[in-house]
Amino acid sequence: MPTLHLLGTGAAVSEPHRTTTMLAVADDDHPEPATLLIDCGSDALQRLREAGGRYEDVAGIIVTHAHPDHTSGFPLFMEKLWLSGRERPIPVIGIQSALDQVQRVWEAFAPITVDWDAPDIAFHRVDHVPGATAWDEAPWTVEASPVDHGDMPNVGVRIEHGPSGDAVAYSCDTAPTDAVVDLAHGASLLVHEATGAGHNHSSAEQAAQIAKRAGVERLLLVHLPEASDPGDLAAARQVFPNTDLGTENGTYAFGT
Ligand SMILES: [Zn+2]
Repeated sequence: MPTLHLLGTGAAVSEPHRTTTMLAVADDDHPEPATLLIDCGSDALQRLREAGGRYEDVAGIIVTHAHPDHTSGFPLFMEKLWLSGRERPIPVIGIQSALDQVQRVWEAFAPITVDWDAPDIAFHRVDHVPGATAWDEAPWTVEASPVDHGDMPNVGVRIEHGPSGDAVAYSCDTAPTDAVVDLAHGASLLVHEATGAGHNHSSAEQAAQIAKRAGVERLLLVHLPEASDPGDLAAARQVFPNTDLGTENGTYAFGT
């Protein structure tokens, strides 16, 4: 059964119990390592273990954009893979500017990592164009498209689970955009940011409008700010009733 883990659900500044927004998809029925991580603004692997996942099941990590709350945990991620004995390369997937950022933050530690036997990093650059293929290895196919995050190049993703045909979409950080409607079309779950309107982000109500247009089954709100207003959730539910705030490190089954 494919599952989504909301490893973190907060904005850069958020409520005390929420860390930065990070996701994982997993499929315990798949015979090979099949856990895909998305972003690492904080300790993604601690959250994965807390959710019942295992380091050795990590197939790769997608980085969406260069902001610190999506990339700054990368050196810690690499240190944990090294100390856990991972030998095979770790695929790191993203648009060029996101890959450049994780490479910079990793190389900042070069004086002390030179003696480490950390796994090789297999960078896979994704074109910053609509419908780019970010991952195509069973059980997942991941499509990435540019979203509207101001001057910061960024992508949202659609993650399809091959065996079931079910899909999850993730807006990443963005103002309301048709690109997310396209990515989320008919998906079981849409994970949409709800930092608040303006400043290249979206409100809960705007996220609900996207979910309604995309025809998804359920909307989960993430990238939540410090003062998540219950009124915002009520307004979103007026537009799209099956809307919830994302549960911090919550697990959601989405396969049929
Ligand atoms: Zn951002």
